[in-house]
Amino acid sequence: MTLVHNWHIGRRMEYPYFESRPKRQFAAVFNINRCIACQTCTMACKSAWTYNKGQEFMWWNNVETKPYGGYPQSWDVKTLKLIESDENTWYTDEKDEKLSPYGVYEGDTIFEAASKKNINQWAVGYIPEDKEWRAPNFGEDVAVSNKPDEFSSLPEHSRWFFYIQRLCNHCTYPGCLAACPRKAIYKRKEDGIVLIDQKRCRGYRKCVEQCPYKKPMYRGLTRVSEKCIACYPRVEGKDPLTQGRPMETRCMAACVGQIRLQGFLDDNPKNPVTWLIKQEKIALPLYPQFGTEPNIYYIPPRWAPRSYLRQMFGPGVDEAIDKFMVPSRELLAVMSLFRMTQSIVFEYKIEEGPKVFETVIHGKKFEMFNDTVIGYGEDGKEIIRTTIEEPIHIRDPKHYNSI
Ligand code: SF4
Ligand code: SF4
Repeated sequence: MTLVHNWHIGRRMEYPYFESRPKRQFAAVFNINRCIACQTCTMACKSAWTYNKGQEFMWWNNVETKPYGGYPQSWDVKTLKLIESDENTWYTDEKDEKLSPYGVYEGDTIFEAASKKNINQWAVGYIPEDKEWRAPNFGEDVAVSNKPDEFSSLPEHSRWFFYIQRLCNHCTYPGCLAACPRKAIYKRKEDGIVLIDQKRCRGYRKCVEQCPYKKPMYRGLTRVSEKCIACYPRVEGKDPLTQGRPMETRCMAACVGQIRLQGFLDDNPKNPVTWLIKQEKIALPLYPQFGTEPNIYYIPPRWAPRSYLRQMFGPGVDEAIDKFMVPSRELLAVMSLFRMTQSIVFEYKIEEGPKVFETVIHGKKFEMFNDTVIGYGEDGKEIIRTTIEEPIHIRDPKHYNSI
């Protein structure tokens, strides 16, 4: 094991390989508050990559309902049990903007739990039984009640559920990569996408076992494991639709609820994805305590109990929800970029417009300005321009529906 820095948990941790960050990291932000569980993203992925024989139970992208849903069933509860210890605490007193923005997690990661337990594995994990893979919609829309005899008090409801959108996190410290005895899994230097070399894989399923998110899936027919490939031909700009410009994945582009924005995490504070994650800190990693530094980030749902959300997204939850409930001028502008284009936006600029609305939300003054947001591509050319107030398009009378 070597010691590497994991900024999600705010400290150094044990990992089998040296720290080696890509030039820029494939990343995405999902706004849970807007997901309608239409599963369009799921089907977009399925019809692009996993429609062949033997891939019936492969849902590289899936949307599950929390707290009861999960694919495979109970994947997160089972993994949380494996790292359970008395020290599973976050210390949030001393934060460092870069090294520990959420505080410091003192419990065990999946790698540290394995070395403590002396199990001769790189990470703790388990292989789900076949029955756990059979029902991707298990627990769908099932609500839970925390306070059965009380009425709701917003922003938290007494009865609640929410949807969570899941795909491979293209982790900075992947459990799957660490686990593979064939070294068939690699992380690309240019964009941090994690891939399984199908020719090297022998189907030992160590990746299935040691990915805490259970995102590699074994295909009995070919006897190798497969996983999300981050639509790398699109990300590389090979799709003719964008004329060579890097393009977002199928699941992002298809999102009906407009909850998804994909890009690359880098050091540019005016990169929309970087701004939401690192500057504004409104988008948070899923189960940062697992220790893999996952790169899909979530704006947490404002109506679910905070204790549940803190366990799921770490201690940054309260700040993120407060900011989401009363968005700043810049946040509103950046969020207007969600699903405005299929090309990856590398930088944004805001042109100020007039004030159009003001109110008070939870005692805080909220002002809305009709600013214009401009998104630029990798080459610095403008690829999208939109306003805070959505433009109204009036249909030409010749296109009116007639009965
Ligand atoms: S989510 Fe799982 S499969 Fe994806 S990179 Fe991380 S550890 Fe590997
Ligand atoms: S397409 Fe978007 S809104 Fe629909 S389920 Fe997927 S993430 Fe949610």
